[in-house]
Amino acid sequence: MSANTHYLSWGRAHRFEHKPHKLAWRDSIELSNLSEPMLVQGLGRSYGDCCLNGSGTLLLSKELDHMIAFNPDTGILDCEAGVSLDSVLKLIVPHAYFLPVSPGTKYVSVGGAIANDVHGKNHHVAGTFGKHVLGLKLLRSNGELLTCSADENQDLFAASIGGMGLTGLIVSAKIKLKKALPVIDQEIIKFNSLSELQEIENASQSRYEYTVSWIDTLASGKQFGRGLYFRGNHCEHIKKSPQDYLHSNPKLQVFFDAPSFVLSEFSIKLFNSVLFHKQRQEKKLETVPYDPFFYPLDAVKSWNRLYGKQGLYQYQFVVPCDSLDFMGDILKFLQKSHQASFLTVLKKFGSITSPGLMSFPKEGWTLALDFPNRGTATLKVLSDLDRMVSDLKGRLYSAKDGHMPASMYQSSYPKLEDFSKLVDPKFSSNFWRRVNASK
Ligand SMILES: Cc1cc2nc3c(=O)[nH]c(=O)nc-3n(C[C@H](O)[C@H](O)[C@H](O)COP(=O)(O)OP(=O)(O)OC[C@H]3O[C@@H](n4cnc5c(N)ncnc54)[C@H](O)[C@@H]3O)c2cc1C
Repeated sequence: MSANTHYLSWGRAHRFEHKPHKLAWRDSIELSNLSEPMLVQGLGRSYGDCCLNGSGTLLLSKELDHMIAFNPDTGILDCEAGVSLDSVLKLIVPHAYFLPVSPGTKYVSVGGAIANDVHGKNHHVAGTFGKHVLGLKLLRSNGELLTCSADENQDLFAASIGGMGLTGLIVSAKIKLKKALPVIDQEIIKFNSLSELQEIENASQSRYEYTVSWIDTLASGKQFGRGLYFRGNHCEHIKKSPQDYLHSNPKLQVFFDAPSFVLSEFSIKLFNSVLFHKQRQEKKLETVPYDPFFYPLDAVKSWNRLYGKQGLYQYQFVVPCDSLDFMGDILKFLQKSHQASFLTVLKKFGSITSPGLMSFPKEGWTLALDFPNRGTATLKVLSDLDRMVSDLKGRLYSAKDGHMPASMYQSSYPKLEDFSKLVDPKFSSNFWRRVNASK
């Protein structure tokens, strides 16, 4: 990798020049010899700037890619933090194990999954990824290698889960996996309004391990609030061996930055309508392998280039509301703004508390929107949304964020002060500098 490479996060809206320093922990490079501030980057699947460090050193965790031990009797995996969830699945699926919690892409590292304390479609029954981490090894910039768990260095354990890489370098982690077959009994249900969605949600939470919905944000009139509800459980029996359902690598790839008309308001409206009408029946039942159920976007490599050179802003918030009443105002606002969101995903978080001091999920509804980056017009929409989310006592997800003002961050994460004391003094990121700007 040459010097002055542009490092981009998944959203590609932030661009900085870095002097990259490839991690050579195995070669015992001492962190204290590196230029400051430093930050670890995993697979760069965060949309915003929490995995970027426009000055100092960006340590790549690619070489920390070794499995240390996997015990099929206990389901405990010990691995280095640069190992991807993709590799974990390839190891555990043949043994009928599955990830206890999985984000919407398998191309994230174990270190990244811990540092953002990621959530999945099963938050209401399993909590976050960090809930299943039994322990981790953390390297601080002073050279100390600490074992952290619920019993040892508890404060650094709680700070590192959801700690956005700011407590040091996570070298390895022990994770408790889930015994489950790699096939899902899936139901896709059409809903024609937010109240229909609320009813389906209420009826699904206790019966389905995985629940999530897609909303057509541009549908108006009688179609306002329509979408598709996905719910599923792992199958209890399968015809072939688990190995036969193992995913393969993506065969499609986007090779160039698409021109801006590809994701215009018109094309997004059309795409949403096609998606909604593609399913003819009101309810579709099918048995599907885990890959298309959990990771539909992974089917196309570099799909983020469809958003063009300017990239995209993801905007994910959670509001502590039981009812979906707030969604009507959000949808009306989005339609008025003419900044269409391409893929809009809504999920109800459950009450299981996250182990991390700075974990994003809390009980309530979470909505993820993505906006092609159209400069100030997009940023204006994001700041209007910030006001609506703040009024509802909600907060934004740092893994996705690329714009949040410092005041919003500081008022919406109540454990920020405790966390700040545990941040490694030589670690920082563009995100961290931004949200601490006015301190
Ligand atoms: C298509 C898609 C779908 C997604 N769906 C979801 C979802 O459903 N739920 C969800 O929660 N998230 C989701 N995400 C976000 C993604 O899961 C997180 O951003 C995740 O943290 C990315 O992991 P990474 O390995 O790419 O880490 P990076 O993006 O490279 O880094 C993320 C953070 O982790 C830190 N970090 C990485 N490795 C280490 C380490 N070894 N030691 C210390 N700190 C480290 C970095 O400093 C940074 O702060 C999605 C992202 C994409 C692109």
